[in-house]
Amino acid sequence: MIIQLKKEINNKERTTITSTLTEMGIDVYPVKTQRGIYFICTPKKEFDIRKIGHLKGITDVHRVSGNHKLVSHKWKVDRTVIDCGDGVFIGDGGFAVMAGPCSIEGEEQIEKTVEALLANGVRIMRGGVYKPRTSPYSFRGLGMEGLSLFYKACSENGIKIITEVMEATQIEPMMPYVDIFQVGARNAQNYNLLEALGEIDKPVLLKRGISGTIDELLYSAEYVFKTGNEKLILCERGIRTFEKAYRNTLDLNAIPILKEKSHLPVIVDPSHGIGIRKHVLKMALAGAAVGADGLLIEIHDTPEKAATDGQQTIDFKEFNALMNKLTQLNALLNN
Ligand code: PEP
Ligand code: MN
Repeated sequence: MIIQLKKEINNKERTTITSTLTEMGIDVYPVKTQRGIYFICTPKKEFDIRKIGHLKGITDVHRVSGNHKLVSHKWKVDRTVIDCGDGVFIGDGGFAVMAGPCSIEGEEQIEKTVEALLANGVRIMRGGVYKPRTSPYSFRGLGMEGLSLFYKACSENGIKIITEVMEATQIEPMMPYVDIFQVGARNAQNYNLLEALGEIDKPVLLKRGISGTIDELLYSAEYVFKTGNEKLILCERGIRTFEKAYRNTLDLNAIPILKEKSHLPVIVDPSHGIGIRKHVLKMALAGAAVGADGLLIEIHDTPEKAATDGQQTIDFKEFNALMNKLTQLNALLNN
């Protein structure tokens, strides 16, 4: 059960609600986010909702069975829209494209990418400065130095930044430069990191775990929301299956299912999803066709020379072609 409280609720009203629930044997878990105050309750048995609905300070009482509560579509009819500032939205009915290299490599690379984004009217650039790598000897990103170059070029051109955060201590130094914090597949169930991101007021994009179920992704989102941050975006990036013909199995089924189960925007990442450059465009379109609210995609001026994930990175010409196709497809879908 989710009890939505009035934002301007006073202490007396709040105490009355809590004690009424306690007397009924219901445990209360209070949640305060940027957008509201909620009491999350997990009653052990059926009870009459009318006994609390009339109490002062309550806006609404929703019966939400199951354990994904705050992220569930069962209580929130309107879909969540993420406002990144300066007219950049995710989940507002438009199609949000976030494109850029797997890793930030230097000033020239950033500038070239910014140009490619501007030419296509893309307002969000991706790029990792902290890279989770399977081998500890591989390139692991330029860190804060890279982020500051990234920020300089993007802020001068009205472009928002999405980049991966790998641990809680990185959040504070990254904060002034980042518009959307990405939680990578390898950290999908790092609950301490998720709770730390729950304490900030910036959008968070959560990738599905490498072998993560849809349920587990929703629980991860619930961790961030219940700690106080409802600015969440879910991302399908492929899962590990028995199939070895491609890097991951992009689970397109997850997109309509996540949108049905949750009110949060859902993004597709075809680059990691298939891991093969020549097929990325088709899988991006497929993601849009099944209802994704946007796209996270790896692009580079010379993918063969990219420091990381070159094999799945498309060049600017391919990106332009994709953007043209997306415009056509979205026009068709919105008809
Ligand atoms: C990335 O976006 O470059 C990345 C590391 O993604 P994932 O966490 O999905 O592997
Ligand atoms: Mn990558």
